[in-house]
Formats: sequence, C-alpha cells, structure tokens
Amino acid sequence: MGCFFTNDVEHTSVNGCTFERIANEVETNTLPRLLDLYDQYNVRSTFFVLASLAEKHPNIVKQIHERGQEVASHGYTHDYRKAFDVLSLDEQITELKKSKDILEQIIGQQVVSFRAPALRVNEYTPLALESAGYQFDSSIAPQRMDAFMSLGSKKKRAWLNAPRCVYRTAIDNLARKGNSNIIEVPVSSFGVPYIGTVMRISPYLLDAFTRQILAWEVKGTEKPVNFLFHPSEAVAELPEESNALHRSDSMIGHLFSDIIRTKIKLKNLNDNALTLLEKELQFWSKRQQFMLIKDAQVK
Ligand SMILES: [Zn+2]
Repeated sequence: MGCFFTNDVEHTSVNGCTFERIANEVETNTLPRLLDLYDQYNVRSTFFVLASLAEKHPNIVKQIHERGQEVASHGYTHDYRKAFDVLSLDEQITELKKSKDILEQIIGQQVVSFRAPALRVNEYTPLALESAGYQFDSSIAPQRMDAFMSLGSKKKRAWLNAPRCVYRTAIDNLARKGNSNIIEVPVSSFGVPYIGTVMRISPYLLDAFTRQILAWEVKGTEKPVNFLFHPSEAVAELPEESNALHRSDSMIGHLFSDIIRTKIKLKNLNDNALTLLEKELQFWSKRQQFMLIKDAQVK
C-alpha cells in the first residue's frame, strides 16, 4: 500500500519554553533540515500545519510547498478548549474553513487533507470536513492503546475497532467505514503508537518492535504505514527553560505526572530526533514507496 511520513507542524513546547522560540527554530533550523533529509531519501511527505503558526510564519508553509511536499491543515489552534471533539458542527466548519483559507492564500493551491489537533474529533467532524471542502483525514489511530491516558480519551474509544486500511468514512464517525466523501488514512500503531515521541524515548525497544510488526503487516496488504513526527521535536529545549506544568496539586502527583513525565518526554528532543528519524527512513526506503496523504486511494 505504501508508506506515509506525516508531520504535525506546531509550536507547542514539551518543556514550557516560549512558543515564539519554538516557531523561530522550526522555521529557520529544524524544518529546513527535515526537508533536506526527506529529499535525500526521496520521501514524499505531508505536513499538517497549524494555521495560527502559518499566519505569523508563512515562510514555514512556503518552504514545504516549494519542496514539492503536501501542505495540509492541522486546524487553527491547539487550544484544548477548541478541540474538535468539543466543538459543534458549525464551529468545526468555521475552524476548518479558516485554516484552509490561510494556508491556501500562502501557497495559491487547494488544501484537501486534515489532521485534528491532539487527534480529537467527534461525530460532526466528517460532515464538517465535507462542508469545508476537505477530502482526506488522518486523525484516527486504530488500536492505539495509550489513547486512554490522553485528553479526549472517551471519544478515542472508537479507535479500538477502527479499520487499519485506507477507507471511506461514515458521515457520523471517522473511525468507521461508510459513504461520506472523506477518505481516512489512519495513523499507525500496534498498541504502541508509531510516532516521534516513542521513537525518541524508546528507539531500540518499543519503536523498533512496532516498526517491525508494521513491516510484516504492510507487506502485501492494503494497510499503509503512517508515521507521525513533529518538526518541533528536533528543537533543543534547554534545561534552564524548564517550566514543568502543574497538572497535579499534590507533591507526589506533581512528581509523577509533571516532573517525571516531562523528563521522559524531553529525551532526544534535539538533533538526535533527526538522527533517529533518518533510521526510520532508511528502514522504509528499502521496503515501501513514500506517498502523500492526498494521493491515498481506497482499494
Ligand atoms: Zn498537534
């Protein structure tokens, strides 16, 4: 079926350093190097760009487009209060159109693919996508088990039975097959998600295991590989910028849910992320063809 390398381009920080520093680093340092790396391995890649970042840093979007890669929408904001699983149909259409307009103005071409911030969607999202003129979605991660520890986990129960192939979605559920005009290209997982975070924190165990299982599964089937990376993961966040979030009021809670969690998430959050990503590219370039989300087809 093929291999999708997809990137969520945003300026959220793991460590609490300023959005502006992440945005500048992505624009001038990590994104250009990532694009070079993709060229080196002939990777066709899709970039889901947060439109509020694109507005302030249009050069990010221009670079992606000029290198022949796909510019797609990651919505307008990553604010959890505006997550797609809490928005009404009309609110979703507004957000989807707004982000599409901003990106299209920069590249002068249609944007047809979408990935929801934090992969949070609800029963209105397929219809909202259709109404706003999108054709592809990549917000569902079938059988991804860590979903139950993340925000919006109740809605993510739909991932348990979601198909692993490229499929046309139901009009009221992106995680089911149906007759909508939206084609889903699911994010790969095998219990463990196949994403940059796992690649960074457990490159030789969980990531290598998941990658090998997926390679067996993909071979000769219609099930694609879809790896998810964030260019911001290659920004070195310095220890002195540390500003661990306070998710818990108790000392013990703060230690586990904030300090340890942040420490783990910071592993290889710098140049090493690109070195590890290159290993993924070396593995897949020998096995599968790289594809853009907008070129995905239902078989
Ligand atoms: Zn995101």
